[in-house]
Amino acid sequence: MTFTIQDVLIAADDAYTTVDVQVVDGKIAAIAPDLEVIGTAFNGTNKLLLPGFFNAHTHSSEMWQRGIMSAFPLELWLAELYDFAPLDTEKVYLSALGTAVETLLSGGTSVVDHLVLIPELELETIATAVRAYKEVGIRAFIAPLIQDESMTAGIPSGESAKTHEPYFRSTSATLAIIEEATRQFHRPDEGVYILVAPTGIQLCTDALFEGCIELSDRYNLCRHSHLLETKAQEKLAQEKYGCTAVEHLKRIGYLSDRTTLAHCVWLNDADIDIMAETQSTVVHNPLSNLRLGSGIAPILKYRQAGVNVTFGCDGASSNDSQDLLEAIKIGSILHNVTDSDYQHWITPQQAVEMASLGGAKGLNLADKLGSLTVGKQADLVLYDLTHLSLLPRTDPIGLLVLGRPHNVVDSAWVNGKQIVANGKVTTINVDELRQELFNRSQWETKRISESVAQIEAHYRTIMGL
Ligand SMILES: [Zn+2]
Repeated sequence: MTFTIQDVLIAADDAYTTVDVQVVDGKIAAIAPDLEVIGTAFNGTNKLLLPGFFNAHTHSSEMWQRGIMSAFPLELWLAELYDFAPLDTEKVYLSALGTAVETLLSGGTSVVDHLVLIPELELETIATAVRAYKEVGIRAFIAPLIQDESMTAGIPSGESAKTHEPYFRSTSATLAIIEEATRQFHRPDEGVYILVAPTGIQLCTDALFEGCIELSDRYNLCRHSHLLETKAQEKLAQEKYGCTAVEHLKRIGYLSDRTTLAHCVWLNDADIDIMAETQSTVVHNPLSNLRLGSGIAPILKYRQAGVNVTFGCDGASSNDSQDLLEAIKIGSILHNVTDSDYQHWITPQQAVEMASLGGAKGLNLADKLGSLTVGKQADLVLYDLTHLSLLPRTDPIGLLVLGRPHNVVDSAWVNGKQIVANGKVTTINVDELRQELFNRSQWETKRISESVAQIEAHYRTIMGL
């Protein structure tokens, strides 16, 4: 955990400079030219050093259904997803490994896993994901996905009042699971964090949100949730609360400077002001928003209002990969078509800062992570600038963000521990992982979802289709 990277390129204001970087006991100890070598020496020549990015919203087990999900909007897509998610803990383990590896090899050193829990095996699911992430060594923010209303409650009812099946697990039992998970697994010093993470207003009661706030305050946990991903959720919030989802979440106290909210597509200007005032963080998931037709989040408005924004891949069934560089690229240039004032467009340098410091801020760790700053933890990524996709030599960050870089991560460290070397994850056997993913799956095509058949007609009516 003590080493020196020599002659490495770093970004300094609008220029680049070549320096040595000393890391002592997992922390950045010095950044300057011609430092003495302490610990292991790494040759940084023709390489770019950046702080690790945050994959600030994903669902690891969706990896099992990537590439096969129908072209559906979220509400129908979720019904199909859950019909074909016969998960066991071994699959949870393998897809967490896969998510970690793909995140690392696209520049991420932290992952926020909004983890789908296997019913009746909730703590086992969490334990399995913790084990996988610890083996890989990526910094893991595990946000067990909880709800206390059944799936049909997530679709607006329209004119007729609808009744829904009660959810199979009580609100208090759900909160007890999160509290127990916190006691067993929340170990910030070891790079494992538990978050409170109700899935969203569409499937959660106030009692669940309030219980999560209480746990968050008691155990100093960050808060996570989906927020207004679809037009249907915007309608549902009006039905459920008579106001916007953001106004309601503010009223019950869920929004804060350690609350990250995935998607945030359907917020109005007053909502955006509330996001700024409460210092909440938006996690931008541009690929899943495109894939599910959810809409384009008003990211440039957030930035102008002073709202912190970072990036996520979202689960691999709605993406259908975990390539953080791809999410950063699309998530930064997508807004050039909706906002004509180019002076507000996101530059590659700003995109990198959003992906690193933006993620750290959202998780209340800006004093420890997210930038190349002496005293911060060494969560670092070294990019090979001699790779074909980063040539010829122009602006390294410009090409990293706007190009189509692949296999360009040479090394990565988390808390000063090297977990990627020479372009390969060194902590687990990735060939074995590939073999396991292959063996436990098969080539298939069209599937028929019974749940979709049950709700599709109602969904189409409600959405005027
Ligand atoms: Zn999600």
